[in-house]
Amino acid sequence: MEILDGKKISNDIKSEIKAEVDKMKERGEKVPHLAAVIVGSDGASLTYVGSKVRSCERVGFESTLVQMPSTTSEQELLKKIEELNQDDNIDGFIVQLPLPDQIDTQKVIMAVHPDKDVDGFHPMNFGKMALDMSTFIPATPFGILELLERYKVDTKGKHTVVIGRSHIVGRPMSILMGRKGWPGNSTVTLTHSQTKNITQITSQADIIISALGVPNFLKAEMVKDDAVVIDVGITRVPDESRPRGYYLTGDVDFENVSKKASYITPVPGGVGPMTIAMLLKNTLLARERHRSRS
Ligand code: NAP
Repeated sequence: MEILDGKKISNDIKSEIKAEVDKMKERGEKVPHLAAVIVGSDGASLTYVGSKVRSCERVGFESTLVQMPSTTSEQELLKKIEELNQDDNIDGFIVQLPLPDQIDTQKVIMAVHPDKDVDGFHPMNFGKMALDMSTFIPATPFGILELLERYKVDTKGKHTVVIGRSHIVGRPMSILMGRKGWPGNSTVTLTHSQTKNITQITSQADIIISALGVPNFLKAEMVKDDAVVIDVGITRVPDESRPRGYYLTGDVDFENVSKKASYITPVPGGVGPMTIAMLLKNTLLARERHRSRS
């Protein structure tokens, strides 16, 4: 069994991006600028946004954090998004999800200009991804592809089972693993909460990508020998004995599944850090495209 070490690979990617940014600085060019909008004060969201902003600093990007109160109206958020769309200094931006109930997430996703949509959530970018066109690939699926590529995991002709069909992870992942090319060329089964006999399906899989957010969902008896197991899930489990009052766990019973798997991602230290690295990669791409347009 080999660990797919997202922490190490994400650090490699950040070093590569930093080297690019250093070259931009030497040439006297503007460096990439990422803005992140957060509405409300959800603990997990603040943590995610904080680490995105810190990672920007680490690679030499400019970053802007826009914090808005949980009472922000949809109109106020849409106005802020329009300002960011118009701001020539900002190459790309994200709006951290989930949003408070009074805000329609779909309207927000539609409002972000596709050229600045480094999350790859806008229908135009999602459509391009589905059509194998060059675009911003959502950071978590992009990070999983990068991990598979850097560890040279064979995906051609393999049966990939994706658990979860969310628009940000499961659905795009299923499309990407089925595309022509590598990583891809898999035969994909997309499963969800209405899937019957899920154990029967996962136990036939060569590659399992689990993105549902249920701790210890994927057990050893659901996995065949030598399967590749990618655990996207991140759940905070309350635990007063820990300094933060919780610990993080994935969807996979790591202790037992790792004994059968050929490759497996840990949680934390697997897909999570890759997501941030690929957001930075998308921002670098946004800067390059922005420069070529102006
Ligand atoms: P989501 O929007 O809640 O979607 C969960 C999916 O899992 C849904 O499609 C749901 O099916 C399915 N599901 C729920 N219970 C199921 C069951 N018992 N059997 C089969 N499928 C089931 O979640 P998400 O945003 O994709 O996130 C999933 C997990 O990944 C969460 O733990 C999240 O924190 C984590 N995550 C991690 C990263 C990272 O960077 N590592 C990034 C994003 C998300 P239905 O569609 O039928 O409801």
